[in-house]
Amino acid sequence: MLIVQKYGGTSVGNPERIKNVARRVCRAKEEGHDVVVVLSAMSGETDKLIALAAQITDSPDPREMDMLVSTGERVTIALLAMAIHALGHKAQSFTGRQAGILSDSVHTKARIEKITANRIREAISEGKIAVVAGFQGINEKSDVTTLGRGGSDLTAVAVAAALAADFCDIYTDVDGVYTTDPNMVPQARKIGKISYDEMLEMASLGAKVLQTRSVEFAKKYNVPVRVLSSFNDNPGTLVTKEDADMEKVVVSGVAYDKNQAKVTLLGVPDKPGVAATIFNTISGANIVVDMIIQNVSEGGLTDMSFTVPKTDSKKIMEVMKKLVAEIGAKDVNIKEEIAKVSIVGAGMRSHSGVAAMMFTALAKEGINIMMISTSEIKISCVIDSKYTELAVRVLHDTFELEKAA
Ligand code: ADP
Ligand code: ASP
Ligand code: MG
Repeated sequence: MLIVQKYGGTSVGNPERIKNVARRVCRAKEEGHDVVVVLSAMSGETDKLIALAAQITDSPDPREMDMLVSTGERVTIALLAMAIHALGHKAQSFTGRQAGILSDSVHTKARIEKITANRIREAISEGKIAVVAGFQGINEKSDVTTLGRGGSDLTAVAVAAALAADFCDIYTDVDGVYTTDPNMVPQARKIGKISYDEMLEMASLGAKVLQTRSVEFAKKYNVPVRVLSSFNDNPGTLVTKEDADMEKVVVSGVAYDKNQAKVTLLGVPDKPGVAATIFNTISGANIVVDMIIQNVSEGGLTDMSFTVPKTDSKKIMEVMKKLVAEIGAKDVNIKEEIAKVSIVGAGMRSHSGVAAMMFTALAKEGINIMMISTSEIKISCVIDSKYTELAVRVLHDTFELEKAA
């Protein structure tokens, strides 16, 4: 078999852990598999680099930012290759450029466009273990790009798709995908098998165990992804196509996201074309909007709220302040102390009353809902961030997620 194994930051957090990863990788090789390894930077390293830039300027040039943050993964790939050599196996490390990971030019959140993987294939054919830097690519000018936080997951899935690997194994610090963050709710239960669509919702709603775009990619190219622990050999979670069993489960998980901010535009003229102008401007600034709410208008004016990633708070306020003047709105404000809590489940498609149960459970705890959004298989509520943990626990209880489906 050809297996892509990805190890996250905690799994390569110190030299001992890197040696542990080397042992696991060599074990797979000794079992007769071809192995490609994708690594993250050591845990905390990317944050440290971002903090360093912040000490220099509040608005670092995105190209230089990528040059900076891509260095974390260069360290771990070289160290792992050395650790594998020490165990008597052949290995070679590759940067994103060497691995042929070609992306667009949207620095700090680039999209992979193509993977050539020639050096990886060559290494495999020479019996070597290829060790690839996660999170990074190059654009058409050969400038280094990065793929967004958690982007090593995407590198792994994309490399697995390019090589038509049998499995893409994501090794992390928990042994699978749980009904909710097991570090927040100890009663959380491991899910044996989850559909791409449910995993996509869980990830995009905040379950950071897999990066959203990596799940999108896995779904598109039908890559079988397994989430496993690098610290034990427990069976993990398989992310795969939906089957009939999965549809029986109404709610399969609860996710939360504290990384969004709510922007409110006040006194917006309620006429055709205004919303288009607002959201064209935002997308022009490469900011991704999540929930949008427009109030009923009064006297030709309305209020509009939407959420954006907190990391874009400064940028969105700059853009919105200009826009307020342009479109003749009254004002704009931002609230960062919010959280989005969501329930996800393929079975919601065919069950009614789920939203009512969710709202009732939150109301019983006195938690006010500021925004609501739904899709076929999820319901999300924006609440005050101080109630996040309470809300997640209450929803986990209400939908009896600790019990096996
Ligand atoms: P890595 O550094 O290996 O990429 P991450 O920190 O990105 O690891 O993701 C693993 C973390 O995701 C876990 O430690 C856990 O706290 C968190 N997490 C959030 N939601 C879930 C969930 N539903 N199932 C498992 N882990 C989750
Ligand atoms: N090191 C990068 C980050 O922290 C990528 C990753 O770990 O997946 O976002
Ligand atoms: Mg991660």
